[in-house]
Amino acid sequence: MAKRYETIIVGGGPAGLTAGMYAARSKLSAVVLERGLPGGQLLNTKDIEDYPGFLHVGGMELAELMTKHAERFGCAIATETVTRVVESGGEDPWARWRVETESGEVYEAPTVILSAGGTAIKLGIPGELEYAGRGVSYCAVCDGAFFEGETIAVVGGGDAACEEADFLTRYAERVYLIHRRDTLRAQKVIQERVFANPKIEFVADTIVKRAEGDATGLKRLVLQSTKLPSGEYDFEGAGPTRHLDVTGLFVFIGFTPNTYLVASEHIEHDAAGYFVTNGRMETSAPGLFAVGDVRSQLVRQITTAVGDATTAAIAVERYITELKQQRAVAGVSAELYHKYI
Ligand SMILES: Cc1cc2nc3c(=O)[nH]c(=O)nc-3n(C[C@H](O)[C@H](O)[C@H](O)COP(=O)(O)OP(=O)(O)OC[C@H]3O[C@@H](n4cnc5c(N)ncnc54)[C@H](O)[C@@H]3O)c2cc1C
Repeated sequence: MAKRYETIIVGGGPAGLTAGMYAARSKLSAVVLERGLPGGQLLNTKDIEDYPGFLHVGGMELAELMTKHAERFGCAIATETVTRVVESGGEDPWARWRVETESGEVYEAPTVILSAGGTAIKLGIPGELEYAGRGVSYCAVCDGAFFEGETIAVVGGGDAACEEADFLTRYAERVYLIHRRDTLRAQKVIQERVFANPKIEFVADTIVKRAEGDATGLKRLVLQSTKLPSGEYDFEGAGPTRHLDVTGLFVFIGFTPNTYLVASEHIEHDAAGYFVTNGRMETSAPGLFAVGDVRSQLVRQITTAVGDATTAAIAVERYITELKQQRAVAGVSAELYHKYI
């Protein structure tokens, strides 16, 4: 038999834990389903220096504090890998959303807060993971300030790579923008900004083959030319190689939001697959809320994730209250309701 809650929170990163904390504090019956240790990307972040109230905090420490905070108000956190979130389509609004898990456990609720984050697409080169957090980064806003006065590289040719390369020149002395082709994909207006920036050097027709360093962090990249003498491209790597000395490598070749968990094609999303929400964080499917890194928005940070989650939890509380009022009007007995919740 399915476990019933008033809201099911899928993913226990900063967004999910905040939603859990607010939901539990509002006396909603809530559960956070998290496949690993609660904390999400915080667990991959050594130093955080842009979370208000903390001049400097370790990601692990902030994750533990957020987990304790959610639990303090009675939020349940279950170790579950969610496989599917399905809109039941049945008559019962209290079971509108069905969440299936790898363990076989099934959860049902009138509302789901999707806070499953996403994954930055990796280059997949030797040294990339070894130096992640020690020079290799996927977030300019998060890590740019650690590269004051240094020489760094940005990989990618789209809007994100170009905008972030431009942004990173606030800190770095020199930024190499490495792209595997000779033309960028970014919008013209963004490209113009990049080419007008004297601190950025465009390195065309080039891929990064390897990241190298020592105990202190990243020190250099091995680059390879992608253009053959014939003018054709070879991305697999037959071209000549060379070294580029940098202490930072920022990779912006795409980000995949975990919206695939929701088995529904009709939910409104943007071109990159992020769910579009209204101001209450509700998607186009009633009762389905999206917060943090799965949501279509300008920037993805811890502060935006917790802000989204706060709004969503309060909106869910209102949604449930309205549902209870409708039930009272329809004359369904409270006894029947409490059998489930
Ligand atoms: C290396 C790095 C450094 C960063 N540094 C900073 C910084 O300094 N400052 C800042 O503000 N932001 C930083 N960010 C960005 C910030 O961490 C994210 O914007 C924030 O974590 C988003 O929170 P979230 O809860 O939406 O997603 P996440 O943190 O990604 O959490 C999603 C959670 O959902 C879980 N999940 C996913 N799929 C499933 C499933 N199928 N079943 C169950 N659970 C699931 C995941 O395990 C994860 O715990 C950084 C990001 C990275 C990658």
